[in-house]
Amino acid sequence: MKSMAAYNGREIPKEDKVFAASGKALDAAAKYGPAEVINATVGALYDDEGKLLVLKSVEKEMKSLPADKFAAYAPIAGTPGFKRAILKAALGSYEPKSYVCVVGTPGGTGSIRNAIANYSCPGDRILTHSWHWAPYKSIAAELYRGIERFDMFDDEGCFNIADFDYKVKKLTRNQEHLVIILNTPANNPTGYALTMDDWYGVKKVLDEVPLDKKVALVLDVAYIDFAGEPEEVRRFLGVVDNLRSNILPIIAYSASKTFTLYGARCAAMICLAHSPEVAEEFGRINTFSSRATWSNPPRAPQEVIERIYAEEGLLAEVEAERATARDMLLARGRAFEEKASRCGLEIVPFSAGFFVTVPFSEPDRLCEKLNEKNVFLIPLERGVRVSVAASSEENCRRLPAMIKAAMDELI
Ligand code: PLP
Repeated sequence: MKSMAAYNGREIPKEDKVFAASGKALDAAAKYGPAEVINATVGALYDDEGKLLVLKSVEKEMKSLPADKFAAYAPIAGTPGFKRAILKAALGSYEPKSYVCVVGTPGGTGSIRNAIANYSCPGDRILTHSWHWAPYKSIAAELYRGIERFDMFDDEGCFNIADFDYKVKKLTRNQEHLVIILNTPANNPTGYALTMDDWYGVKKVLDEVPLDKKVALVLDVAYIDFAGEPEEVRRFLGVVDNLRSNILPIIAYSASKTFTLYGARCAAMICLAHSPEVAEEFGRINTFSSRATWSNPPRAPQEVIERIYAEEGLLAEVEAERATARDMLLARGRAFEEKASRCGLEIVPFSAGFFVTVPFSEPDRLCEKLNEKNVFLIPLERGVRVSVAASSEENCRRLPAMIKAAMDELI
């Protein structure tokens, strides 16, 4: 007997590419010493000394929680205080016109999972952009759905509204429900952010969806608080708020990056519904799904986020610390971009964020070549992903020429 599992049509690889690459980098660091290795595989923010960057103000609050604030169950959809706080964190000063409902989930992953489970049917295809976070496909497969991709960029390197339009029309012809996932700003893996014109294009396409078809527009904003000025990066909310009644925007807002609480598993899914009934239904069905999947989300990070928004001084401290970390990240991205352009290394359109992507037809070979120089990146389908979040600014300046040299050796 070689297998006892029921695969149910899922393609389950031997190992996860991200964890495999970061495992290799850790082995190299143990063998040659961390200073000899560039580990640009990790999707978390590290300081220039290579230590995980955790906001001190958040750490202090987490460590001061009394037992009942971390050991007790939280309500399935999150504590009321957390729900109020996370809504403020997600929307900033934006005041929604739509009916809002918040459901807490363990990480943005949970929000995406619930959105797919509740706004599409088994066998449906979920629409997302060609460059996307790989787990979208796994989450869809786990729920017996597939992924359809639209080309993210056209030949001029602009957001490809024409292909988005084509795929939305194609899928809504065959499906009653359509879940669309857009990961912006600071898209993983490209660092692209939809411009306001891109958003108007998206709105126009959605305005043309027949009223008997139902679309859930999932806005995966996992990296929003490291993408630029808080107000500026939220400008798109004015476009997606109050779309037509057959379109339901759902914001998947994660505390993983925003509060550097990656492993604490905390996020919220927030709907901007056209009617109170749809908002109430959103709360009910997603709470049902949560109960049947992970039951209650962890209480500790919820308590911390509630406290942060209850004390003005503490909020100011968190925001100031985050702004410093964001500036450090933005400087790294700019350093990489500048050096890439100097050495003639093409990158996928980038604005800001944790990652930069270099297009290349043989990503695995390129990564292997770079491994020889103790440089570790993530191979994607049509390129390699560089985590500027995990690399010092100095290494961000060194990497483009190293990648270009490795590519030249392979061509
Ligand atoms: N969306 C994207 C694009 C991500 O890269 C991640 C995490 O890496 C997530 C969502 C979800 O993160 P988490 O479940 O840790 O909140």
